Amino acid sequence: MGKITDPIYEQVVKRNAHEPEFHQAVKEVLDSIEPALEQHPEFVKAKIVERLVEPERVIHFRVAWVDDKGEVQVNRGFRIQFNGAIGPYKGGLRFHPTVYSGILKFLAFEQIFKNALTGLPMGGAKGGSDFDPHGKSDGEIMRFCQAFMNELYRHIDADLDVPAGDIGVGGREIGYLFGQYRKIKNIWHGVLTGKGYEYGGSLGRPEATGFGAVWFAEEMLKARGDTTGFKGKTVAISGAGNVAQHASQLAMEMGAKVVTLSDSTGFIYDKKGLDKEKWKFVMHLKNVKRGRIKEYAEKFKGVEYYTYNEDKTLKSPWYVPEIDIAIPSATQNEVDFDEAKALVKNGCIVVSEGANMPCVPKAVDYFIEKGVSFGPGKAANAGGVATSGLEMTQNSERRQWSFEKVIDELHKIMINIHNTAYKTAEKYGYPGNYVVGANIAGFLKVAKAMLAQGVL
Ligand code: NDP
Repeated sequence: MGKITDPIYEQVVKRNAHEPEFHQAVKEVLDSIEPALEQHPEFVKAKIVERLVEPERVIHFRVAWVDDKGEVQVNRGFRIQFNGAIGPYKGGLRFHPTVYSGILKFLAFEQIFKNALTGLPMGGAKGGSDFDPHGKSDGEIMRFCQAFMNELYRHIDADLDVPAGDIGVGGREIGYLFGQYRKIKNIWHGVLTGKGYEYGGSLGRPEATGFGAVWFAEEMLKARGDTTGFKGKTVAISGAGNVAQHASQLAMEMGAKVVTLSDSTGFIYDKKGLDKEKWKFVMHLKNVKRGRIKEYAEKFKGVEYYTYNEDKTLKSPWYVPEIDIAIPSATQNEVDFDEAKALVKNGCIVVSEGANMPCVPKAVDYFIEKGVSFGPGKAANAGGVATSGLEMTQNSERRQWSFEKVIDELHKIMINIHNTAYKTAEKYGYPGNYVVGANIAGFLKVAKAMLAQGVL
Protein backbone atom coordinates (compact mmCIF):
# COMPACT_ATOMS: atom_id res chain seq x y z
CA MET A 1 0.00 0.00 0.00
CA GLY A 2 1.53 3.34 0.89
CA LYS A 3 1.78 6.36 3.15
CA ILE A 4 -1.78 7.51 2.63
CA THR A 5 -3.65 4.22 2.65
CA ASP A 6 -1.75 2.20 5.32
CA PRO A 7 -3.42 3.83 8.33
CA ILE A 8 -6.83 3.61 6.64
CA TYR A 9 -6.41 -0.13 6.16
CA GLU A 10 -5.31 -0.59 9.78
CA GLN A 11 -8.44 1.22 10.91
CA VAL A 12 -10.63 -0.98 8.66
CA VAL A 13 -9.16 -4.14 10.20
CA LYS A 14 -9.66 -2.77 13.72
CA ARG A 15 -13.21 -1.62 13.15
CA ASN A 16 -14.31 -4.74 11.25
CA ALA A 17 -12.69 -7.47 13.28
CA HIS A 18 -13.34 -11.08 12.18
CA GLU A 19 -14.29 -10.07 8.63
CA PRO A 20 -11.26 -11.27 6.61
CA GLU A 21 -13.01 -11.26 3.22
CA PHE A 22 -13.84 -7.58 3.67
CA HIS A 23 -10.24 -6.79 4.68
CA GLN A 24 -9.02 -8.64 1.57
CA ALA A 25 -11.30 -6.68 -0.77
CA VAL A 26 -10.37 -3.33 0.81
CA LYS A 27 -6.66 -4.12 0.73
CA GLU A 28 -6.80 -4.98 -2.96
CA VAL A 29 -8.34 -1.60 -3.77
CA LEU A 30 -6.17 0.45 -1.41
CA ASP A 31 -3.04 -1.28 -2.76
CA SER A 32 -3.91 0.10 -6.21
CA ILE A 33 -5.17 3.63 -5.67
CA GLU A 34 -2.19 5.28 -3.93
CA PRO A 35 -0.84 6.72 -7.25
CA ALA A 36 -4.24 8.32 -7.92
CA LEU A 37 -4.38 9.80 -4.41
CA GLU A 38 -0.93 11.33 -4.89
CA GLN A 39 -2.30 13.21 -7.90
CA HIS A 40 -5.51 14.24 -6.10
CA PRO A 41 -4.70 15.84 -2.74
CA GLU A 42 -8.29 17.15 -2.64
CA PHE A 43 -9.52 13.54 -2.11
CA VAL A 44 -7.06 13.07 0.74
CA LYS A 45 -8.10 16.34 2.40
CA ALA A 46 -11.80 15.46 2.15
CA LYS A 47 -11.08 11.98 3.61
CA ILE A 48 -12.80 10.34 0.64
CA VAL A 49 -11.13 6.95 1.22
CA GLU A 50 -11.92 6.92 4.96
CA ARG A 51 -15.57 7.54 4.03
CA LEU A 52 -15.55 5.08 1.15
CA VAL A 53 -14.58 2.11 3.35
CA GLU A 54 -17.48 2.74 5.72
CA PRO A 55 -20.90 1.51 4.48
CA GLU A 56 -23.59 4.21 4.25
CA ARG A 57 -26.10 1.81 5.82
CA VAL A 58 -26.07 -1.77 7.14
CA ILE A 59 -29.44 -3.48 7.57
CA HIS A 60 -29.56 -6.71 9.56
CA PHE A 61 -32.86 -8.49 10.17
CA ARG A 62 -34.51 -11.69 11.33
CA VAL A 63 -36.18 -13.97 8.77
CA ALA A 64 -38.59 -16.42 10.40
CA TRP A 65 -40.44 -18.95 8.22
CA VAL A 66 -42.14 -22.36 8.45
CA ASP A 67 -40.66 -25.45 6.74
CA ASP A 68 -42.57 -28.37 5.18
CA LYS A 69 -42.67 -30.22 8.50
CA GLY A 70 -44.38 -27.28 10.16
CA GLU A 71 -41.22 -26.34 12.11
CA VAL A 72 -40.32 -22.69 12.56
CA GLN A 73 -36.92 -21.80 11.08
CA VAL A 74 -34.95 -18.64 11.82
CA ASN A 75 -32.36 -17.17 9.44
CA ARG A 76 -30.45 -13.92 9.22
CA GLY A 77 -31.13 -11.38 6.49
CA PHE A 78 -28.85 -8.53 5.44
CA ARG A 79 -28.65 -5.60 3.06
CA ILE A 80 -25.48 -3.53 2.91
CA GLN A 81 -26.07 -0.19 1.15
CA PHE A 82 -22.42 0.69 0.79
CA ASN A 83 -22.24 3.71 -1.49
CA GLY A 84 -24.98 5.60 -3.34
CA ALA A 85 -22.97 8.54 -4.69
CA ILE A 86 -23.38 7.76 -8.40
CA GLY A 87 -26.83 6.14 -8.47
CA PRO A 88 -29.38 3.98 -6.64
CA TYR A 89 -27.79 1.16 -4.63
CA LYS A 90 -27.42 -1.93 -6.80
CA GLY A 91 -26.06 -5.42 -6.17
CA GLY A 92 -27.20 -9.01 -5.79
CA LEU A 93 -28.69 -11.12 -3.03
CA ARG A 94 -26.83 -14.28 -1.98
CA PHE A 95 -28.50 -17.20 -0.20
CA HIS A 96 -25.77 -19.49 1.12
CA PRO A 97 -24.94 -20.89 4.58
CA THR A 98 -21.58 -19.03 4.61
CA VAL A 99 -23.27 -15.61 4.32
CA TYR A 100 -22.45 -13.15 7.11
CA SER A 101 -21.66 -9.44 7.31
CA GLY A 102 -17.98 -9.87 6.24
CA ILE A 103 -18.83 -11.64 2.97
CA LEU A 104 -21.54 -9.14 2.11
CA LYS A 105 -19.35 -6.13 2.95
CA PHE A 106 -16.64 -7.49 0.63
CA LEU A 107 -19.16 -8.03 -2.14
CA ALA A 108 -20.86 -4.63 -1.66
CA PHE A 109 -17.49 -2.85 -1.56
CA GLU A 110 -16.39 -4.52 -4.82
CA GLN A 111 -19.74 -3.63 -6.32
CA ILE A 112 -19.12 0.12 -5.89
CA PHE A 113 -16.18 0.07 -8.31
CA LYS A 114 -17.69 -2.52 -10.64
CA ASN A 115 -20.84 -0.47 -11.07
CA ALA A 116 -18.82 2.70 -11.65
CA LEU A 117 -16.84 0.91 -14.37
CA THR A 118 -19.97 0.01 -16.33
CA GLY A 119 -20.53 3.71 -17.02
CA LEU A 120 -24.12 3.41 -15.77
CA PRO A 121 -25.49 5.34 -12.78
CA MET A 122 -25.54 2.65 -10.07
CA GLY A 123 -24.25 2.70 -6.48
CA GLY A 124 -22.84 -0.34 -4.67
CA ALA A 125 -24.80 -2.75 -2.44
CA LYS A 126 -25.15 -6.43 -1.63
CA GLY A 127 -27.43 -8.52 0.54
CA GLY A 128 -28.60 -12.00 1.32
CA SER A 129 -29.08 -14.60 3.96
CA ASP A 130 -27.41 -17.61 5.58
CA PHE A 131 -30.38 -19.64 4.29
CA ASP A 132 -29.25 -22.79 2.42
CA PRO A 133 -31.47 -23.49 -0.61
CA HIS A 134 -29.94 -26.96 -1.19
CA GLY A 135 -32.49 -29.71 -0.63
CA LYS A 136 -35.37 -27.30 0.05
CA SER A 137 -38.74 -27.85 -1.63
CA ASP A 138 -40.19 -25.26 -3.96
CA GLY A 139 -42.76 -24.35 -1.28
CA GLU A 140 -40.01 -23.79 1.29
CA ILE A 141 -38.06 -21.59 -1.13
CA MET A 142 -41.20 -19.52 -1.76
CA ARG A 143 -42.04 -19.13 1.93
CA PHE A 144 -38.47 -18.17 2.73
CA CYS A 145 -38.37 -15.57 -0.08
CA GLN A 146 -41.68 -14.11 1.10
CA ALA A 147 -40.46 -13.90 4.70
CA PHE A 148 -37.22 -12.27 3.51
CA MET A 149 -39.15 -9.65 1.52
CA ASN A 150 -41.50 -8.97 4.47
CA GLU A 151 -38.62 -6.93 5.89
CA LEU A 152 -36.51 -6.02 2.86
CA TYR A 153 -39.36 -4.15 1.13
CA ARG A 154 -38.94 -1.23 3.56
CA HIS A 155 -35.42 -0.56 2.35
CA ILE A 156 -35.61 -0.91 -1.45
CA ASP A 157 -37.33 0.75 -4.41
CA ALA A 158 -36.71 1.49 -8.08
CA ASP A 159 -34.87 4.77 -7.34
CA LEU A 160 -33.45 3.73 -3.98
CA ASP A 161 -31.98 0.22 -4.05
CA VAL A 162 -32.49 -2.43 -6.72
CA PRO A 163 -31.27 -5.94 -5.72
CA ALA A 164 -30.63 -8.81 -8.17
CA GLY A 165 -29.54 -12.45 -7.93
CA ASP A 166 -26.24 -14.00 -6.87
CA ILE A 167 -25.28 -17.45 -5.52
CA GLY A 168 -28.47 -19.32 -4.60
CA VAL A 169 -30.74 -16.62 -6.01
CA GLY A 170 -31.81 -17.24 -9.61
CA GLY A 171 -34.94 -16.62 -11.67
CA ARG A 172 -37.20 -18.65 -9.38
CA GLU A 173 -36.19 -16.75 -6.23
CA ILE A 174 -36.37 -13.34 -7.95
CA GLY A 175 -39.94 -14.22 -9.01
CA TYR A 176 -41.04 -14.99 -5.44
CA LEU A 177 -39.26 -11.93 -4.04
CA PHE A 178 -40.78 -9.65 -6.67
CA GLY A 179 -44.27 -11.08 -6.15
CA GLN A 180 -44.11 -10.44 -2.42
CA TYR A 181 -42.85 -6.89 -2.89
CA ARG A 182 -45.72 -6.14 -5.28
CA LYS A 183 -48.23 -7.68 -2.88
CA ILE A 184 -47.05 -5.67 0.14
CA LYS A 185 -46.57 -2.34 -1.63
CA ASN A 186 -49.49 -2.70 -4.05
CA ILE A 187 -47.42 -1.17 -6.81
CA TRP A 188 -45.50 -2.37 -9.87
CA HIS A 189 -41.97 -0.99 -9.66
CA GLY A 190 -38.82 -2.35 -11.29
CA VAL A 191 -37.45 -2.99 -7.82
CA LEU A 192 -35.47 -6.13 -8.67
CA THR A 193 -33.51 -7.13 -11.76
CA GLY A 194 -33.10 -10.61 -13.18
CA LYS A 195 -36.91 -10.76 -13.48
CA GLY A 196 -38.62 -13.12 -15.92
CA TYR A 197 -39.26 -11.61 -19.35
CA GLU A 198 -43.04 -11.89 -18.86
CA TYR A 199 -42.95 -9.45 -15.94
CA GLY A 200 -40.41 -6.85 -16.97
CA GLY A 201 -37.12 -8.75 -17.15
CA SER A 202 -34.50 -8.11 -19.79
CA LEU A 203 -33.65 -10.58 -22.48
CA GLY A 204 -29.95 -11.39 -22.21
CA ARG A 205 -29.76 -10.93 -18.41
CA PRO A 206 -29.26 -14.66 -17.71
CA GLU A 207 -26.43 -14.77 -20.26
CA ALA A 208 -24.86 -11.45 -19.33
CA THR A 209 -22.25 -12.27 -16.67
CA GLY A 210 -20.87 -15.37 -18.36
CA PHE A 211 -20.87 -13.81 -21.84
CA GLY A 212 -19.25 -10.68 -20.42
CA ALA A 213 -16.43 -12.66 -18.79
CA VAL A 214 -15.72 -14.37 -22.12
CA TRP A 215 -15.71 -11.08 -24.02
CA PHE A 216 -13.42 -9.55 -21.44
CA ALA A 217 -11.04 -12.49 -21.94
CA GLU A 218 -11.26 -12.01 -25.71
CA GLU A 219 -10.27 -8.35 -25.33
CA MET A 220 -7.33 -9.35 -23.11
CA LEU A 221 -6.22 -11.80 -25.81
CA LYS A 222 -6.40 -9.03 -28.42
CA ALA A 223 -4.37 -6.72 -26.19
CA ARG A 224 -1.62 -9.38 -26.10
CA GLY A 225 -1.66 -9.54 -29.89
CA ASP A 226 -3.64 -12.80 -30.13
CA THR A 227 -6.39 -12.17 -32.65
CA THR A 228 -7.60 -15.77 -32.96
CA GLY A 229 -9.71 -15.30 -29.82
CA PHE A 230 -11.28 -18.41 -28.29
CA LYS A 231 -10.99 -20.46 -31.48
CA GLY A 232 -9.02 -23.62 -30.76
CA LYS A 233 -8.30 -22.66 -27.12
CA THR A 234 -8.81 -25.03 -24.19
CA VAL A 235 -10.79 -23.48 -21.35
CA ALA A 236 -11.22 -24.45 -17.69
CA ILE A 237 -14.37 -23.14 -16.01
CA SER A 238 -15.47 -23.72 -12.43
CA GLY A 239 -19.03 -23.64 -11.11
CA ALA A 240 -22.10 -24.91 -12.91
CA GLY A 241 -24.46 -22.08 -12.03
CA ASN A 242 -25.59 -19.00 -13.89
CA VAL A 243 -22.14 -17.59 -14.67
CA ALA A 244 -20.48 -20.92 -15.56
CA GLN A 245 -23.41 -22.00 -17.74
CA HIS A 246 -23.22 -18.98 -19.99
CA ALA A 247 -19.44 -18.56 -19.97
CA SER A 248 -19.22 -22.16 -21.21
CA GLN A 249 -21.98 -21.55 -23.78
CA LEU A 250 -20.26 -18.58 -25.42
CA ALA A 251 -16.73 -20.03 -25.17
CA MET A 252 -18.03 -23.14 -26.91
CA GLU A 253 -19.87 -21.12 -29.57
CA MET A 254 -16.67 -19.16 -30.21
CA GLY A 255 -14.81 -22.38 -31.02
CA ALA A 256 -13.13 -23.20 -27.70
CA LYS A 257 -12.98 -26.56 -25.95
CA VAL A 258 -14.44 -26.25 -22.44
CA VAL A 259 -13.09 -29.16 -20.42
CA THR A 260 -14.17 -28.53 -16.81
CA LEU A 261 -17.23 -27.55 -14.75
CA SER A 262 -17.74 -27.96 -11.01
CA ASP A 263 -20.08 -27.58 -8.08
CA SER A 264 -19.66 -27.52 -4.34
CA THR A 265 -19.00 -31.26 -4.18
CA GLY A 266 -16.62 -31.88 -7.08
CA PHE A 267 -15.67 -31.27 -10.71
CA ILE A 268 -15.80 -32.97 -14.09
CA TYR A 269 -12.95 -33.23 -16.57
CA ASP A 270 -14.24 -33.79 -20.09
CA LYS A 271 -11.21 -34.16 -22.40
CA LYS A 272 -13.37 -33.99 -25.52
CA GLY A 273 -14.99 -30.78 -24.33
CA LEU A 274 -18.59 -29.63 -23.99
CA ASP A 275 -20.91 -29.70 -26.97
CA LYS A 276 -24.49 -28.46 -27.44
CA GLU A 277 -26.06 -31.66 -26.13
CA LYS A 278 -23.88 -31.76 -23.02
CA TRP A 279 -24.50 -28.08 -22.37
CA LYS A 280 -28.28 -28.58 -22.56
CA PHE A 281 -27.90 -31.45 -20.11
CA VAL A 282 -26.11 -29.13 -17.65
CA MET A 283 -28.83 -26.47 -18.03
CA HIS A 284 -31.53 -29.00 -17.19
CA LEU A 285 -29.48 -30.65 -14.44
CA LYS A 286 -28.76 -27.41 -12.58
CA ASN A 287 -31.83 -25.26 -13.34
CA VAL A 288 -34.66 -27.81 -13.39
CA LYS A 289 -33.57 -31.06 -11.76
CA ARG A 290 -31.24 -29.24 -9.35
CA GLY A 291 -28.86 -32.22 -9.31
CA ARG A 292 -25.10 -32.63 -8.89
CA ILE A 293 -22.42 -32.17 -11.59
CA LYS A 294 -21.32 -35.75 -10.93
CA GLU A 295 -24.34 -36.84 -12.99
CA TYR A 296 -22.65 -35.34 -16.09
CA ALA A 297 -19.84 -37.89 -15.77
CA GLU A 298 -22.40 -40.66 -15.26
CA LYS A 299 -24.28 -39.63 -18.40
CA PHE A 300 -21.43 -39.04 -20.88
CA LYS A 301 -18.71 -41.57 -21.72
CA GLY A 302 -15.06 -40.74 -21.15
CA VAL A 303 -15.73 -37.97 -18.65
CA GLU A 304 -13.87 -38.08 -15.34
CA TYR A 305 -15.36 -36.89 -12.07
CA TYR A 306 -13.35 -35.96 -8.97
CA THR A 307 -14.24 -34.67 -5.56
CA TYR A 308 -11.82 -31.91 -4.54
CA ASN A 309 -8.39 -33.11 -3.40
CA GLU A 310 -9.36 -36.76 -4.07
CA ASP A 311 -6.67 -37.18 -6.74
CA LYS A 312 -3.09 -36.15 -5.84
CA THR A 313 -2.36 -34.50 -9.18
CA LEU A 314 -5.84 -33.38 -10.26
CA LYS A 315 -7.05 -31.78 -7.02
CA SER A 316 -9.30 -29.19 -8.67
CA PRO A 317 -10.15 -27.88 -12.17
CA TRP A 318 -7.01 -25.71 -12.03
CA TYR A 319 -4.66 -28.71 -12.24
CA VAL A 320 -6.02 -29.92 -15.58
CA PRO A 321 -3.26 -30.07 -18.26
CA GLU A 322 -2.90 -27.73 -21.25
CA ILE A 323 -5.28 -24.95 -20.29
CA ASP A 324 -5.11 -21.70 -22.28
CA ILE A 325 -7.84 -19.75 -20.50
CA ALA A 326 -9.30 -20.07 -16.98
CA ILE A 327 -12.68 -18.60 -16.01
CA PRO A 328 -13.26 -19.26 -12.29
CA SER A 329 -17.03 -18.83 -11.87
CA ALA A 330 -18.02 -20.46 -8.57
CA THR A 331 -17.10 -18.51 -5.45
CA GLN A 332 -14.52 -16.39 -3.59
CA ASN A 333 -10.98 -17.69 -2.92
CA GLU A 334 -11.36 -20.81 -5.03
CA VAL A 335 -7.98 -20.42 -6.79
CA ASP A 336 -5.08 -20.55 -4.34
CA PHE A 337 -1.36 -19.93 -4.91
CA ASP A 338 -0.55 -23.57 -5.77
CA GLU A 339 -3.43 -23.68 -8.20
CA ALA A 340 -2.20 -20.46 -9.84
CA LYS A 341 1.25 -22.05 -10.21
CA ALA A 342 -0.31 -25.17 -11.75
CA LEU A 343 -2.31 -23.06 -14.24
CA VAL A 344 0.77 -21.12 -15.33
CA LYS A 345 2.84 -24.31 -15.60
CA ASN A 346 0.14 -25.86 -17.77
CA GLY A 347 0.21 -22.95 -20.22
CA CYS A 348 -2.61 -20.65 -19.08
CA ILE A 349 -2.23 -17.15 -20.57
CA VAL A 350 -5.55 -15.53 -19.62
CA VAL A 351 -7.61 -15.61 -16.40
CA SER A 352 -10.99 -13.88 -16.44
CA GLU A 353 -12.78 -13.84 -13.08
CA GLY A 354 -16.44 -14.79 -13.63
CA ALA A 355 -16.96 -15.03 -9.87
CA ASN A 356 -16.22 -12.31 -7.33
CA MET A 357 -12.66 -12.51 -5.93
CA PRO A 358 -12.17 -16.20 -6.83
CA CYS A 359 -8.37 -15.84 -6.87
CA VAL A 360 -6.52 -15.30 -3.58
CA PRO A 361 -4.18 -12.24 -3.56
CA LYS A 362 -1.00 -14.36 -3.90
CA ALA A 363 -2.49 -16.08 -6.94
CA VAL A 364 -3.30 -12.71 -8.52
CA ASP A 365 0.24 -11.42 -7.88
CA TYR A 366 1.67 -14.61 -9.37
CA PHE A 367 -0.43 -14.33 -12.54
CA ILE A 368 0.65 -10.73 -13.04
CA GLU A 369 4.32 -11.51 -12.32
CA LYS A 370 4.25 -14.34 -14.86
CA GLY A 371 2.68 -12.22 -17.61
CA VAL A 372 -0.74 -13.89 -17.51
CA SER A 373 -3.47 -11.42 -18.53
CA PHE A 374 -5.61 -11.25 -15.42
CA GLY A 375 -9.12 -9.74 -15.50
CA PRO A 376 -10.34 -8.99 -11.96
CA GLY A 377 -13.99 -9.75 -11.21
CA LYS A 378 -14.98 -6.14 -10.78
CA ALA A 379 -14.18 -5.62 -14.47
CA ALA A 380 -14.51 -9.09 -16.02
CA ASN A 381 -17.87 -10.03 -14.46
CA ALA A 382 -19.44 -6.56 -14.66
CA GLY A 383 -21.62 -7.69 -17.57
CA GLY A 384 -24.29 -8.97 -15.18
CA VAL A 385 -24.83 -5.74 -13.36
CA ALA A 386 -24.46 -3.75 -16.58
CA THR A 387 -27.38 -5.69 -18.06
CA SER A 388 -29.29 -5.20 -14.82
CA GLY A 389 -28.72 -1.49 -15.44
CA LEU A 390 -30.17 -1.97 -18.93
CA GLU A 391 -33.15 -3.78 -17.37
CA MET A 392 -33.73 -0.72 -15.15
CA THR A 393 -33.62 1.51 -18.23
CA GLN A 394 -36.16 -0.70 -20.02
CA ASN A 395 -38.47 -0.66 -16.96
CA SER A 396 -38.28 3.15 -16.81
CA GLU A 397 -39.05 3.37 -20.54
CA ARG A 398 -41.89 0.84 -20.13
CA ARG A 399 -40.38 -1.06 -23.06
CA GLN A 400 -38.47 -4.28 -23.62
CA TRP A 401 -35.58 -4.46 -26.03
CA SER A 402 -34.75 -7.32 -28.40
CA PHE A 403 -32.13 -9.90 -27.38
CA GLU A 404 -29.83 -8.58 -30.11
CA LYS A 405 -30.02 -5.00 -28.85
CA VAL A 406 -29.27 -5.98 -25.25
CA ILE A 407 -26.38 -8.25 -26.23
CA ASP A 408 -24.98 -5.61 -28.58
CA GLU A 409 -25.08 -2.98 -25.78
CA LEU A 410 -23.51 -5.45 -23.35
CA HIS A 411 -20.71 -6.33 -25.73
CA LYS A 412 -19.92 -2.62 -26.23
CA ILE A 413 -19.93 -2.07 -22.46
CA MET A 414 -17.49 -4.96 -21.91
CA ILE A 415 -15.11 -3.64 -24.57
CA ASN A 416 -15.34 -0.22 -22.98
CA ILE A 417 -14.62 -1.57 -19.48
CA HIS A 418 -11.62 -3.44 -20.84
CA ASN A 419 -10.27 -0.38 -22.62
CA THR A 420 -10.84 1.88 -19.61
CA ALA A 421 -8.99 -0.51 -17.28
CA TYR A 422 -6.21 -1.06 -19.82
CA LYS A 423 -5.63 2.64 -20.54
CA THR A 424 -5.87 3.69 -16.88
CA ALA A 425 -3.27 1.08 -15.90
CA GLU A 426 -0.96 2.40 -18.59
CA LYS A 427 -1.53 6.03 -17.58
CA TYR A 428 -0.59 5.34 -13.95
CA GLY A 429 2.55 3.36 -14.86
CA TYR A 430 1.28 -0.23 -14.57
CA PRO A 431 0.85 -1.39 -18.20
CA GLY A 432 -1.16 -4.60 -18.55
CA ASN A 433 -2.23 -4.57 -14.89
CA TYR A 434 -6.03 -4.67 -15.04
CA VAL A 435 -6.32 -4.77 -11.24
CA VAL A 436 -4.72 -1.35 -10.89
CA GLY A 437 -6.53 -0.01 -13.97
CA ALA A 438 -9.99 -1.14 -12.85
CA ASN A 439 -9.53 0.01 -9.27
CA ILE A 440 -8.25 3.47 -10.17
CA ALA A 441 -10.84 4.08 -12.90
CA GLY A 442 -13.74 2.99 -10.65
CA PHE A 443 -12.37 4.91 -7.68
CA LEU A 444 -11.91 8.21 -9.57
CA LYS A 445 -15.53 8.27 -10.71
CA VAL A 446 -16.95 7.60 -7.25
CA ALA A 447 -14.45 9.91 -5.50
CA LYS A 448 -15.34 12.84 -7.77
CA ALA A 449 -19.05 12.28 -7.11
CA MET A 450 -18.49 12.12 -3.35
CA LEU A 451 -16.37 15.25 -3.36
CA ALA A 452 -19.02 17.16 -5.31
CA GLN A 453 -21.76 16.15 -2.88
CA GLY A 454 -20.05 17.47 0.26
CA VAL A 455 -19.27 15.80 3.56
CA LEU A 456 -21.85 13.03 4.00
P1 NDP B 1 -25.08 -19.89 -8.80
O1 NDP B 1 -25.69 -20.11 -7.47
O2 NDP B 1 -25.93 -19.92 -10.00
O3 NDP B 1 -23.90 -20.95 -9.03
C1 NDP B 1 -22.81 -21.03 -8.16
C2 NDP B 1 -22.01 -22.26 -8.54
O4 NDP B 1 -20.82 -22.29 -7.76
C3 NDP B 1 -22.76 -23.56 -8.26
O5 NDP B 1 -22.38 -24.52 -9.21
C4 NDP B 1 -22.27 -23.92 -6.86
O6 NDP B 1 -22.34 -25.31 -6.57
C5 NDP B 1 -20.83 -23.49 -6.95
N1 NDP B 1 -20.31 -23.15 -5.61
C6 NDP B 1 -20.86 -22.33 -4.70
N2 NDP B 1 -20.13 -22.30 -3.59
C7 NDP B 1 -19.08 -23.12 -3.81
C8 NDP B 1 -17.96 -23.51 -3.04
N3 NDP B 1 -17.78 -23.06 -1.80
N4 NDP B 1 -17.08 -24.40 -3.60
C9 NDP B 1 -17.26 -24.86 -4.85
N5 NDP B 1 -18.31 -24.54 -5.63
C10 NDP B 1 -19.20 -23.68 -5.12
O7 NDP B 1 -24.29 -18.51 -8.68
P2 NDP B 1 -23.76 -17.56 -9.85
O8 NDP B 1 -23.31 -18.37 -11.00
O9 NDP B 1 -24.75 -16.49 -10.05
O10 NDP B 1 -22.51 -16.88 -9.12
C11 NDP B 1 -21.20 -17.44 -9.17
C12 NDP B 1 -20.19 -16.36 -8.82
O11 NDP B 1 -20.30 -15.28 -9.76
C13 NDP B 1 -20.33 -15.73 -7.44
O12 NDP B 1 -19.06 -15.37 -6.97
C14 NDP B 1 -21.12 -14.47 -7.74
O13 NDP B 1 -20.93 -13.47 -6.75
C15 NDP B 1 -20.49 -14.05 -9.06
N6 NDP B 1 -21.28 -13.16 -9.89
C16 NDP B 1 -22.53 -13.51 -10.32
C17 NDP B 1 -23.25 -12.65 -11.11
C18 NDP B 1 -24.56 -13.03 -11.71
O14 NDP B 1 -25.06 -12.28 -12.54
N7 NDP B 1 -25.14 -14.16 -11.36
C19 NDP B 1 -22.74 -11.29 -11.43
C20 NDP B 1 -21.37 -11.07 -11.02
C21 NDP B 1 -20.71 -11.96 -10.24
P3 NDP B 1 -23.72 -26.01 -6.10
O15 NDP B 1 -24.47 -26.28 -7.37
O16 NDP B 1 -23.24 -27.22 -5.41
O17 NDP B 1 -24.40 -25.04 -5.20
